[in-house]
Amino acid sequence: MPPFAVVLLHAIGISSTLGYGIHHLFSETLIIGILLLTSGISGICSLVYLYYNRDRNYFFVVFGSFLGLALVLSSYFHGYRGLLFVFPFTASLFYFMRFKTALLLALALSIVCLLAALHVMENIVVLRYGAALIISIGFSACYAYVMNEQKAHLEQDAHYDSLTGITNRRYFNHWLNSVIDEKPSSKKNIALFYIDIDDFKHINDGFGHAAGDELLKLFSKRILAVIRQNELIMATNKIYNFARLAGDEFVIAILDLDNINAAKRIAERLIESTSVPFNISSTEIDVHISIGVIYSENYMSAEMLVHNADTAMYRAKTNGKNNFYIYDDSISAEIQRRKDIETNITQALDKQLFKLEYMPIYDITATPSITGVETLIRSNQDYLRDIGPDKFIPVAEASGQIKDIDLWVMETTFRDISSVQKGADQIDRWYAINISSTELLDSKFIDQIEYLLEKYSIDPKMIHLEITETKLVPYENIILDRLNRLRKLNFHLTLDDYGTGYTGFAQLLNFPGDFIKIDQSFIAEINQGNSNYTKMIGVMLSIANIYGLKVVAEGVETKEQLNYLQDLGCQYAQGYYFSRPLSWQDFSKL
Ligand code: C2E
Ligand code: CA
Ligand code: CA
Repeated sequence: MPPFAVVLLHAIGISSTLGYGIHHLFSETLIIGILLLTSGISGICSLVYLYYNRDRNYFFVVFGSFLGLALVLSSYFHGYRGLLFVFPFTASLFYFMRFKTALLLALALSIVCLLAALHVMENIVVLRYGAALIISIGFSACYAYVMNEQKAHLEQDAHYDSLTGITNRRYFNHWLNSVIDEKPSSKKNIALFYIDIDDFKHINDGFGHAAGDELLKLFSKRILAVIRQNELIMATNKIYNFARLAGDEFVIAILDLDNINAAKRIAERLIESTSVPFNISSTEIDVHISIGVIYSENYMSAEMLVHNADTAMYRAKTNGKNNFYIYDDSISAEIQRRKDIETNITQALDKQLFKLEYMPIYDITATPSITGVETLIRSNQDYLRDIGPDKFIPVAEASGQIKDIDLWVMETTFRDISSVQKGADQIDRWYAINISSTELLDSKFIDQIEYLLEKYSIDPKMIHLEITETKLVPYENIILDRLNRLRKLNFHLTLDDYGTGYTGFAQLLNFPGDFIKIDQSFIAEINQGNSNYTKMIGVMLSIANIYGLKVVAEGVETKEQLNYLQDLGCQYAQGYYFSRPLSWQDFSKL
């Protein structure tokens, strides 16, 4: 459901339009009455459609055009009684339309109404209204402009790595996915180069982090130069993307190379160019790199491509570093690892070797107090315990086992809740459960949730389902539909890891949930000097505010971070500063 305030504003606008329409119908100008009533009725339809999240553009156009027309006629017949309504009408245009269109329409409508009003008003009065109108449009335009700029900045920051200025991991994944999802007819071959600096840790330790950062910058410049000067790539305008995945790991993707030999030559050139020492604060640093190359004509999934190139890179390292390795099927160790994880997950599910830990979430609007808790999966089984959910959840997602895991987590949480509910009433505490968005593609999942709700008599209002933004994109429509169904069931929905994804921020408008969770990477930057990131926290909070979403900050580890968030007006937080994830017993004691 859309936020209450939005609905209320709509309702006020519509009822006054209807009231004014009826008034005109019976005691004033009939035609204005008819126009206003029509526009009021289409406004109602639009509101209903908004409620059901359906396309309501048509109603909006009818609503706008009839109301606009009524305003012109009112100005013509009644002067200021028409002009008065032009203010809010033009201001609202900026919320629904693109900036330029809204500005043009606002100006055009104002001019027409002012001209029409000349018919019944003195010129000087019309002039004053004109001035007031221009000022009001100016204010609305400035506001809309600033919001647009902020959005654009945010998207820029979300797409590029702040240190090197090249594409970041998320955007690279997004780009690669979209290349792969293109129609089969336009498919090209793709070459992926996974580059890792050998012994970067030693460079960092030996010369300091500042030097390490400087090196990464120069390094990426040099790689970019190789790509841009390479006749294999440039002469034929090959499409490429160069990204920093993390730390000292980079990746280049090039579409449509002539053959695997071209990929080999590029890898050689990359190694050659980086073997010239780097000059950093008048010290010469020798750098070697290892590259994993995959040349694929049959387009495996984006994850698989990156993953395989990464595995090839490891092979290059074990072969003695400072060289490259082209992926072939002999690299099966990694595949074996995935199989091992899968087997262990199956076992852990069978033998009940999973358990949950509970991480408290605090209301920080005043003195922090527990308001909710996030359940996090753990395993008693050695293998899975060692690698942790960060590693085994993605494998479970790929293998489909995630469904059993998520249902197990949900059932266990529900059981825990019903056990405390019997004791005391703790309804005001919420429980956040992570669900994988791949689940949402399975049509039966929601039925299963409904079954569990009933079985444990759980009120969905106390459950927050956390979904990660990054994974929502490819199947947006289906997922949105499922999210809407969950919302109808009265679950709360949280957009997890917010800010790391590539979803345009404007798309929050479509997100049917009511919470966002700012990713810990942003919180970690507080008081660390990267003011770009910390600024983004403020912007995220204000955007959340506009969309009527509440905000949880994740990964709060220090008092300074907490204070910073409190000053910005963030409502909720969790992190090691308050508490690590706890066993059920320890959590209950809290
Ligand atoms: P997430 O949903 O973003 O969960 C937050 C992770 O950040 C947790 O790691 C948590 O222990 C950690 N964390 C929270 N506060 C702090 C802090 O202040 N400092 C630091 N360094 N870390 C903090 P965990 O439990 O290892 O989970 C990792 C990821 O695995 C989760 O990320 C989530 O994506 C996935 N996951 C965990 N449990 C489940 C589950 O039951 N179902 C599903 N589908 N995924 C799960
Ligand atoms: Ca989470
Ligand atoms: Ca997170």
